[in-house]
Amino acid sequence: LSVSEYLRQHIRTVPDWPAPGVQFRDITPLLQDPQVFRVLIDAFVHRYMGRGMRPDVVAGLDARGFILGSVVAYELGVGFVPIRKKGKLPFTTVQETYELEYGSATVELHTDAVRPGDRVLLIDDLIATGGTMMAGKKLLEKLGAQVTEGASIVDLPELGGSQRLKDSGLALFTLVDFA
Ligand code: IMP
Repeated sequence: LSVSEYLRQHIRTVPDWPAPGVQFRDITPLLQDPQVFRVLIDAFVHRYMGRGMRPDVVAGLDARGFILGSVVAYELGVGFVPIRKKGKLPFTTVQETYELEYGSATVELHTDAVRPGDRVLLIDDLIATGGTMMAGKKLLEKLGAQVTEGASIVDLPELGGSQRLKDSGLALFTLVDFA
């Protein structure tokens, strides 16, 4: 059994959530089982421990990117910075607004979270349209950092997000695809 297949078997699909017609990919069972959680985290850690792959900083996207990113950062021996939904961070921030299917969303990052030239690994649980990860990349770049790779557990390739991110020049590492 490949790591990808093993992880896939522990992702729950919830039909019609949060809206009719949506198949929500729920990663909480991956976190709940200690053996599966270890396989998941180790998949990221092994990649980024590798020669020339180790980032200076891990940035996590609100909110499941925090769960993954903080553990990966800890294992890599680097710092973790949160990219949060608007209105949560207390210090001065940079902001980025992006379009959703209905309306828009704004994410923020503390201005001292990264330094110019930092090599940053950007983590979330899932890539759908790619809008969230693109906004995170832009925030980090506003502060002069370089996003060396975007990583997530799940990619939904049919939504075209991962392709758009790659077209923008962002390298991606994802573990499980769902058609
Ligand atoms: P995007 O911005 O369209 O790529 O959507 C990705 C963001 O929405 C990520 O932060 C995900 O956590 C969340 N998301 C969208 N669809 C799902 C899903 O099916 N399962 C879990 N998270 C999702």
